[in-house]
Amino acid sequence: MDTYRHKGLRQRLVSTLIQKGITSPRVLDAIAQVPRHLFLDKAFEEQAYKDKALPIAANQTISQPYTVAFQTQLVDPQPSDYILEVGTGSGYQAAVLAGLCKKLYTIERQKTLYTRTAGLLNRLGYVKVRTLYGDGYKGAPKFAPFDKIIVTAGAREVPQALLTQLKVGGQLIIPSGLKETKKMLRVTKTAESDYETEAYGAFKFVPFLEGMVS
Ligand code: SAH
Repeated sequence: MDTYRHKGLRQRLVSTLIQKGITSPRVLDAIAQVPRHLFLDKAFEEQAYKDKALPIAANQTISQPYTVAFQTQLVDPQPSDYILEVGTGSGYQAAVLAGLCKKLYTIERQKTLYTRTAGLLNRLGYVKVRTLYGDGYKGAPKFAPFDKIIVTAGAREVPQALLTQLKVGGQLIIPSGLKETKKMLRVTKTAESDYETEAYGAFKFVPFLEGMVS
């Protein structure tokens, strides 16, 4: 259930995110709307509105709200955008994006997480989200091309398949690099095989792994 108390806690979280430098009113509004506590196990519900990453099933984590807001701000979702998220996890980032775009595809490699989160997003009424079970390293060619792609796991390099599945003018947001702390990259597809990369800050993520887990 989502109560006035939860809404109050979300407003405080929004203030924290503003203090930490998040400026997009649309992103802050999405954070104020999505009930993060419903994407967590009961044991962690009380901590849902702290600006912290928390454990979810299958040894994964729900990203820190600041990271979700930062990545969403970089994606800059538009009402006409078709977006692919790689790394469904809890479904929280998907829910935040869904309110800001036309259609959100999200792909998860772990079947247990995929099944749980697909059910949850459906129950909560996120009709713009289509949940997929597969290896996000390969993207989702059946639904490509996308206006934007966001990866929510830490990559060692930028997978070519994801760049291929962007529209010209489209952008890929991906934490990437060989060290444990990743650089947040925004890669813009400027022409069919031309790309421009910008780097924004350092973040820690669970690893982006190839292959599926059944
Ligand atoms: N966006 C999520 C973050 C979850 S953590 C949230 O808001 O909760 C990152 C997720 O990426 C994990 O669930 C992990 O299983 C998944 N992941 C890692 N490599 C992947 C891949 N190749 N394809 C799809 N999902 C992947």
